[in-house]
Amino acid sequence: ERKLIIAGNWKMNKTVAEALDLVSDLKMELASIKEVDIVVCPPFTALCEVSKVILHSNIRLGAQNMNEHQSGAYTGEIAAGMLKEFSVRYVILGHSERRQYQKESDALISKKALAAHAASIKPIVCVGELLAEREGGLMEKVLDTQVRGSLAGLTKQQMEETVIAYEPVWAIGTGKTATSAQAQEAHAFIRKLLVSLYDEATARRVRIQYGGSVKASNARELMSQPDVDGALVGGASLEVRSFGDIIKNSI
Ligand code: 13P
Repeated sequence: ERKLIIAGNWKMNKTVAEALDLVSDLKMELASIKEVDIVVCPPFTALCEVSKVILHSNIRLGAQNMNEHQSGAYTGEIAAGMLKEFSVRYVILGHSERRQYQKESDALISKKALAAHAASIKPIVCVGELLAEREGGLMEKVLDTQVRGSLAGLTKQQMEETVIAYEPVWAIGTGKTATSAQAQEAHAFIRKLLVSLYDEATARRVRIQYGGSVKASNARELMSQPDVDGALVGGASLEVRSFGDIIKNSI
């Protein structure tokens, strides 16, 4: 009942020219795919040009961050309304790299999520535990805090249009993928939490992506888990072959 959503988080990679090469290739390679919502999230500097190439295709555009305010004296920041100019449909919020390097808090992430919804942009809200937290038996506690905090204040309808990305920090860029059982366990925990925060019907509609060293060889196994509804792909989204194969292997 939930449509798979597979998004490429390009992080701080690709010039405009490189972005155009990749997205033109993806457009041809994936033209026949209808079973998956396909999203690319280039850096801000490439959004404008990429949006022109994927117009009228099955590829949707995402951004990697945005500011929580509508406009004003926030030097270096980008507002939701500016993303809308390029038909951005999704925005990654609270990625673990931003939580770590920009010290983003759950409270800030929830403000951003509300601002995204106010502009009709769907947030992809990232949560996930550190290795030390998992080893200390704190995974559920961390996920509970992050989900409650970063999704605070969302209405039922907004929640249904929010994507959650479970990205265990120890699996990001390390080549260490969570096993499909570990992913399923965390996703099921998050969905159960959504039942308690909202209700069964809402929780059933929310898509939960897995992220962390997803590649063509493990995508099928991960996506076959009942509560895994897609992937947020970093490194393997930077080339047409690997990203294309992840999507094809997932259906
Ligand atoms: P990798 O796929 O490179 O591990 O990155 C995952 C990620 O952080 C996606 O947001």
